Amino acid sequence: MIDLPDRIQHYIGGQSVDSIDGSTFDVLDPVTNQTYLTAAAGKQADIDVAVSAARKAFTEGPWPRMLPRERSRILHRIADLVESRDQRLAELESYDSGLPITQALGQARRAAENFRFFADLVVAQRDDTYKVPGRQINYVNRKPIGVAGLITPWNTPFMLESWKLGPALATGNTVVLKPAEFTPLSASLWSGIFEEAGLPEGVFNLVNGLGEQAGDALVKHAGVPLISFTGESSTGQLIFANAAPHLKGLSMELGGKSPAIVFADADLEAAINATIFGVFSLNGERCTAGSRILVERPIYDEFVERYAAQAKRVIVGHPNDPKTEVGALVHPEHFDKVMSYIEIGKSEGRLVAGGGRPDGFETGNFVAPTVFADVPSDARIFTEEIFGPVVAITPFDTEAEALELANGVKYGLAAYVWTNDLKRSHNFAQAIEAGMVWLNSNNVRDLRTPFGGVKASGLGHEGGYRSIDFYTDQQAVHINLGEVHNPVFGKPAGTDQQGS
Ligand code: NAD
Repeated sequence: MIDLPDRIQHYIGGQSVDSIDGSTFDVLDPVTNQTYLTAAAGKQADIDVAVSAARKAFTEGPWPRMLPRERSRILHRIADLVESRDQRLAELESYDSGLPITQALGQARRAAENFRFFADLVVAQRDDTYKVPGRQINYVNRKPIGVAGLITPWNTPFMLESWKLGPALATGNTVVLKPAEFTPLSASLWSGIFEEAGLPEGVFNLVNGLGEQAGDALVKHAGVPLISFTGESSTGQLIFANAAPHLKGLSMELGGKSPAIVFADADLEAAINATIFGVFSLNGERCTAGSRILVERPIYDEFVERYAAQAKRVIVGHPNDPKTEVGALVHPEHFDKVMSYIEIGKSEGRLVAGGGRPDGFETGNFVAPTVFADVPSDARIFTEEIFGPVVAITPFDTEAEALELANGVKYGLAAYVWTNDLKRSHNFAQAIEAGMVWLNSNNVRDLRTPFGGVKASGLGHEGGYRSIDFYTDQQAVHINLGEVHNPVFGKPAGTDQQGS
């Protein structure tokens, strides 16, 4: 039996606290859909207190003034603690989100790696200096910005929180985190980890609550100059508008409908294995899921047949079972959304696997891995993000047609290209409207590379130094080494009017 809390509080200024007005919201477990805990529901007043605590830690506390090496040591300790608690983290994450336990464990380790990576990066950080011989030296004085507002979604919540916390803290900012309301459980471990690692009080603050309340208040708070947001494109649009009056710095990682393009010359076995994993891992609740597969006509029938057969063998099971490959979707609302797309798909494409609840799972948010073939490019299941274990397969005849299909949606997050033709792979990859492209590979990411989408999938890129850029101001300092370089205005009468 897993040891669970029955309530979760906010963490503000080093203290665990309830909401000022005492409000709470219910959190369900995705296997029974029963309420198993209540979480404090933050509102504007709670956000105000959290921002004040973070502001105080920024203006008066040691964190922004510490040497990068000192901050780095604390970040490495955080990584050590996350690693040492990976089993507990995975257990809580899997229980709360319905992710298969083995995949939740991988995400916990990735969270530790995010801290380690940014701990190393800030120590190696160098900044630009420009010399104009004999006249000027210019250098960049990089500074933390202040209180960063971090708003995160419910898919792989702990890992995605670490993705923002790592660089925001490494660069000396203080933060207010607003985790997703469907999955607040694993985030409740951060405070203990940070305290044990020696993060100064007030540097990390967490306010739970609904997006329209706690999230909205954070976005509209005048004392929060930065918002890093990951979530749906429509929420991103709203946040963009709400942040506009304050001209905040925004980083937006949004939705996706990423294509996997399989040419006839590809290694078919590898392509099938990768595209199965690409859409069914993490329950299909994955922003970079390859949820549209475009297959060249000569191998289309064989691909569909083998793909459907393999999808039927994917093991759906209890999230806590190490054999499980697809667990339970996060929440009944999301389950209903995914199920409604499956019903829509039945009139838009040819159902070749799944199509509803798997046998033996009459309750809980379980969905059988579902495959539609012959899906036309104007179908809703081809163009809209479903965010579940559902994939659309479409044939193509020419490279030009494949490119048109790949680019024919509003999203542009990731793309996967399968071909053994070197020239084509590069030319095709470069023509795709996507922030990230993998050639003959599933989504395996080097943390130094840019991460982000184009079109409706995002704004700005994080990853490696780009995250450091987002969380810092680069102040240019100009030093004159020569004569003062301007004409003299307002000289006394009778002197030379030319100036120097
Ligand atoms: P969501 O947009 O519903 O919620 C994300 C977060 O925003 C939550 O914490 C929520 O409470 C908060 N929020 C909601 N309304 C808000 C408002 N008006 N103001 C401020 N905050 C608000 O997204 P979700 O359903 O939790 O997550 C799934 C989505 O996230 C999918 O679209 C997925 O593709 C996307 N995603 C993108 C990436 C990426 O890196 N591009 C990664 C993971 C998930």
